[in-house]
Amino acid sequence: MNRGVDRSVLHQLLGPERCREDPATCLAYGYDNSRRTSQPEVVVFPETIEEICCIIEWAARNRVAVVPRGFGSNTTGASVPVTGGLVMSTERMTRILDFEPRDRLIVAQAGVTNEAIQKTATRERLFWPPDPSSASYSTVGGNIGTNAGGPHAVRYGTTRDNVLGLVAVDGQGHVFRTGVKTTKSAIGYDLTRLIVGSEGTLAIVAEATLKLVPRPAERLTYRTLYTSPEAATGSLIELLNQPIPPSAIEFMDQIAIDLIRDRVPGLPKGAQALLLTEIESDRPLETADRARLEGCLSQSGLLDLDVAESPEAATLLWMARKSLSPALRHLGSGKINEDIVVPTSRLPELLRGLARLGAEHETTIVTFGHAGNGNLHVNLIFDEQEAAATLRANQALESVFRLVLQLEGTLSGEHGIGLSKRPFMPWQVDESSLFLMRGIKKVFDPTGILNPGKLLPDPPDFPHLNPVK
Ligand SMILES: Cc1cc2nc3c(=O)[nH]c(=O)nc-3n(C[C@H](O)[C@H](O)[C@H](O)COP(=O)(O)OP(=O)(O)OC[C@H]3O[C@@H](n4cnc5c(N)ncnc54)[C@H](O)[C@@H]3O)c2cc1C
Repeated sequence: MNRGVDRSVLHQLLGPERCREDPATCLAYGYDNSRRTSQPEVVVFPETIEEICCIIEWAARNRVAVVPRGFGSNTTGASVPVTGGLVMSTERMTRILDFEPRDRLIVAQAGVTNEAIQKTATRERLFWPPDPSSASYSTVGGNIGTNAGGPHAVRYGTTRDNVLGLVAVDGQGHVFRTGVKTTKSAIGYDLTRLIVGSEGTLAIVAEATLKLVPRPAERLTYRTLYTSPEAATGSLIELLNQPIPPSAIEFMDQIAIDLIRDRVPGLPKGAQALLLTEIESDRPLETADRARLEGCLSQSGLLDLDVAESPEAATLLWMARKSLSPALRHLGSGKINEDIVVPTSRLPELLRGLARLGAEHETTIVTFGHAGNGNLHVNLIFDEQEAAATLRANQALESVFRLVLQLEGTLSGEHGIGLSKRPFMPWQVDESSLFLMRGIKKVFDPTGILNPGKLLPDPPDFPHLNPVK
């Protein structure tokens, strides 16, 4: 029986305002956007690397769980403290430490929001490519934890491709620095890429050096609608195989289109699929380039093509995509939102399969997202008051994952594993790879205190951890 660990050391270090144990704070920091919840015993708000080190060193010595947290906007339960212990929120580490436009990089503390990074970078016509829709309420630490992405990943990659280096603290309280300030490096194992996407299970990120890229002068946005998903995916493949790389290709299925009809003008009847395509360049496109792009978009089955050449007109076209997530709430009280990925050539099979699975499991499936990467948000909607409907949706989810793996895809493109997809990890990752991952975890976090119960499909009980009294 654990007696509970004395927390007075934390109070001395941080003071009562930054070491909280009142029920309101513990409640607020016990849940995340997955809607799962579990109470921590203490919530701590470090402001410096030294404070992070002291807290972790204390927690490792006393075998107390530490769950790092940004703004809790992740969708998988990744920042829910399932074993109690400490939530360590880095939300007060909000300083931009360096901005070097000539080297196209910015150094920021973990609690800076994605939006604040973009605002600083924009001053010099630069931007940081990861662009989750949650930019204003997600942090650099959280974006790194989940390897966040967004529409522009098709051209610029996800967070992992756009972090040059980190200052982080391992599971024993040791600071380590990874990466470089240059765009090339060939020096040992790439710890930066390992930490990105590790969901706070290997280290606490205190600072990050982020790679910026020039903001393009011109953006052309096309909205095209098609009579079938196959027509849309045919256009998409043509677009990806021509020499001007699209900077975004977003897809919406027929249910999604019908959901936003009231709010978005000009959507033709009978549309079964929509593509939103963005092309960037440093000068207005030549007539021949535009003809080629429009040729790709105009495969048989095209119903409507609309082009926006000004930022204002583009905002109107993007309205179709942006108004979708809130509109989903009208379809049912329960929603399982997955972010699977398949090779783009397999998208037609995926979309046909999803339609079949929705019918078989009597579950509404709404699909939209970053089709340029083959990364679609598959939303299973159901009435959560009805047990049978909930069961059907969960069975449908398993069938969706089986389909994705059959199509040589992956179970998550940007949301990560967290709690919700842990049981499915062995479906995709073989036992030898899981063995290596467990070994890596042990090296970074020998006492197993960092975000226990997340990512790796290990047993759900944690006898090695102590409560805090
Ligand atoms: C409306 C909405 C839209 C969204 N759109 C997108 C989207 O387009 N693309 C996308 O990728 N995601 C999206 N998300 C999901 C979410 O915003 C991202 O996963 C985001 O990166 C989480 O950031 P956060 O600061 O909220 O982190 P949290 O949710 O608090 O944490 C996420 C993970 O990172 C870890 N972590 C947090 N801070 C640190 C740190 N300092 N050191 C180590 N680990 C840390 C946590 O332990 C956890 O495992 C969306 C969410 C919402 C609610």
